Amino acid sequence: MTWETVIGLETHVELATKTKIFCSCTTEFGGAPNTHCCPVCMGMPGTLPVLNQKVVELAVTAGLALNCAITPHSRFDRKNYFYPDLPKAYQISQLYLPIARNGRVDIGEGKTIRIHELHMEEDAGKLVHDPWLDQTLADYNRCGVPLIEIVTEPDFRCAEEVIAYLEKLKETLQYLGVSDCKMQEGSLRCDVNLSVRPAGSAQLGVRTEMKNLNSFKAISRAIVYEARRQIELLEEGKPVVQQTRRWDENKDATYAMRSKENAQDYRYFPDPDLPPVELSGAYLDRLRAALPELAEAKRVRYQTQWGLPAYDAKMITSQKPLADFFEALVSLGTKPKQGANWIMGQVLGQLSAHGLEAGDMALTPPTLARLIALVEAGKLNRNTAVKVFEAVFETDGDVDAYVAAHGLEQVSDAGLVAEAVEQVLAANEKSVADYKAGKEKAFGFLVGQVMRRLKGQASPAMVNQVLRDRLG
Ligand code: ADP
Ligand code: MG
Ligand code: ZN
Repeated sequence: MTWETVIGLETHVELATKTKIFCSCTTEFGGAPNTHCCPVCMGMPGTLPVLNQKVVELAVTAGLALNCAITPHSRFDRKNYFYPDLPKAYQISQLYLPIARNGRVDIGEGKTIRIHELHMEEDAGKLVHDPWLDQTLADYNRCGVPLIEIVTEPDFRCAEEVIAYLEKLKETLQYLGVSDCKMQEGSLRCDVNLSVRPAGSAQLGVRTEMKNLNSFKAISRAIVYEARRQIELLEEGKPVVQQTRRWDENKDATYAMRSKENAQDYRYFPDPDLPPVELSGAYLDRLRAALPELAEAKRVRYQTQWGLPAYDAKMITSQKPLADFFEALVSLGTKPKQGANWIMGQVLGQLSAHGLEAGDMALTPPTLARLIALVEAGKLNRNTAVKVFEAVFETDGDVDAYVAAHGLEQVSDAGLVAEAVEQVLAANEKSVADYKAGKEKAFGFLVGQVMRRLKGQASPAMVNQVLRDRLG
């Protein structure tokens, strides 16, 4: 029997607002425990939530970009459950009237993933288990950080499709400025629902859910493992039990956590403290008009408008800060292909050497544009320019000041070059003879010697020319 794997995803994304969803506490990641809290997000009795308008704006923006229908009258509901990371004992979420529904995402090769819904909700706190004290500590800084949850239809058939979707989702949300999507900080987390069925069957099999996977690698491996586990059970004639399972990174296996709770256990009801969210047509039109150019559109434009190869266009648009940097370079007069080469070579190289994200880099476009202009004008040779780049990268240093301070300006004085050539020819009679006997290698050696005499600051093209002329 051949089996088909069926997967649906629930993705939680932390929104890039400055403050929390129902109070004015900061959403900043990584503060000392319980320093980003107030009576509202700590769930004190008698406090009242006030909806952050920016949350609605970002959720609607995401919904529009994912081709959803926006719900003009949406509402918040209480999801009741007890857990120590949730001091109110209920989470404010949206069950009955989510803000967006019925979207779709194209993931390439003709495949489309349908979005069932996108809703707004608040994040819970974090529990930290301390094995030394044998205690569990509660940090409420994350309580009330705004989330959107994006739920797909069960449209995936393999891990590769899931990864393609998540990459597209991440790229889109980053371009929109909806979220930084940093998986290592928990800004994007995934629950994977998976079942298997005989190939060709129209019915869905019994599914399991793997919660809070936080890397692409963990997601891929968990999918492969879980599909095989379910197939083996079914082939042995045993049932798959609907349950929540935990992926253990170290053991490369999933473990049962709890059998799947029934939605009714949450005793959902409309939150009486929050008025419904009413969105006017004019508001929606305004947000639709403000949608920025997304990565795919940029990829096409870089090729048609600026003649970049497809590979370059893809590399540069893979991260929004790189695309912004590139467009700024071009607007400062850098030739597109040259700008692309510097970004793909030197900029990415230095980012990885310093362990930096593109968005956190100090270097500004005018600095690199100036450096490239000096190379173009024949004032710096390319190798020297790379060294200057490395020197100014970290602090966005002044290129001209650095070049002047280190005497790096390229020797384009024909007299100086000719003088160095004469000295080198006089000192290397054997190589001259070798060259005249037809050994092209000897020529390269002589060029190297002249460059050395000029401390690497001559234009290689000029040195080549003068030597060739002189040797006849
Ligand atoms: P719940 O709210 O209990 O988690 P939902 O019906 O909202 O369940 O579905 C959650 C996710 O699970 C959705 O992405 C959906 O596509 C997916 N899903 C539902 N049934 C199956 C199934 N049999 N196999 C795989 N995925 C499924
Ligand atoms: Mg679920
Ligand atoms: Zn607060």
